[in-house]
Amino acid sequence: MIPPIANRFVAGETPAEVLEHVRTINQRDVKAIVNLLGEHYDERPPVRSDAAEYRSLVEDVAESDLEACVSIKPSQLGLDIGEDVFREELESIVETAAEHGVFVWIDMEDHTTTDATLDAYEEFAREYDDDGGSDFGVGVCVQANLERTRDDVERLADVPGKVRFVKGAYDEPEAVAYTDRERATQELKDLLEYAFEHYDGGIGVGSHDPEIIDHAIELHEEYGTDFEFQMLMGVREDVQYDLAEEYEVYQYVPYGGRWLSYFYRRVMERKENLRFALRAVLGR
Ligand code: FAD
Repeated sequence: MIPPIANRFVAGETPAEVLEHVRTINQRDVKAIVNLLGEHYDERPPVRSDAAEYRSLVEDVAESDLEACVSIKPSQLGLDIGEDVFREELESIVETAAEHGVFVWIDMEDHTTTDATLDAYEEFAREYDDDGGSDFGVGVCVQANLERTRDDVERLADVPGKVRFVKGAYDEPEAVAYTDRERATQELKDLLEYAFEHYDGGIGVGSHDPEIIDHAIELHEEYGTDFEFQMLMGVREDVQYDLAEEYEVYQYVPYGGRWLSYFYRRVMERKENLRFALRAVLGR
């Protein structure tokens, strides 16, 4: 069981627990992007096991009346072992999701994985495009801190899927990235402007930053393009519920036995989260 200290950021260890959390947030009009925690597998068994759990999760979501989709890390599906392994496992999930009308997001990891991730996204988004007949579709994340992303965003404009725009969570080398946070924020604003102007909807705004949130609302008012906000479980949830009164909002909801390193990242990224964790440990 997840200790109470971690359950602000992680919904539980089992599919039943995560679906229960999804039900709770759905009641307040926030939809869910469910992520089974796991990454950087260098052997096939955990890859197979996580892919099987995703297929079963997709079936559970389809059989429920829940508003939820899934999001997967390439290295969880074996990208560190080989691109062929990643493609094979991803396709098995996308196929099941297409049959059941459940949307599949592909998270973006560090810059060494960008080409393999975008290529797989583009191929499956085109191959499994169902012309909007169900909730099914494929989406990918792009990171504003990478210099290459402007070109990628132009390339992805006519792919029939969704794109989640984020600042980027990985420490990247200066040779390929804007390492200054303000520059990454400005890039994200510029990329969003391009997308709202040129994309036919399908824009995910993955940020808790008030500057980015306001910018997205202004762009939506200017261009009328469809978009959704995406934020993490346990981060600015009050804002998520407020925004959901007017806009489409998704909460990224992680679960699973491998929660410790994810919880550690959330706690260390902000002083407030560290204080929250210490208060929980000390019982006050
Ligand atoms: P930050 O730059 O961290 O903060 C800017 C401002 O936002 C702060 O000054 C504060 O005003 C506000 N803020 C931020 N956090 C808090 C908080 N906890 N409480 C109160 N105020 C806060 N990255 C990837 O590289 N690949 C992915 O696939 C990916 N997927 C993501 C999916 C989702 C749904 C989200 C939300 C993020 C994802 N990220 C991903 C992470 C992303 O790249 C950023 O690292 C992360 O979102 C932090 O940037 P930010 O824009 O939220 O705000």
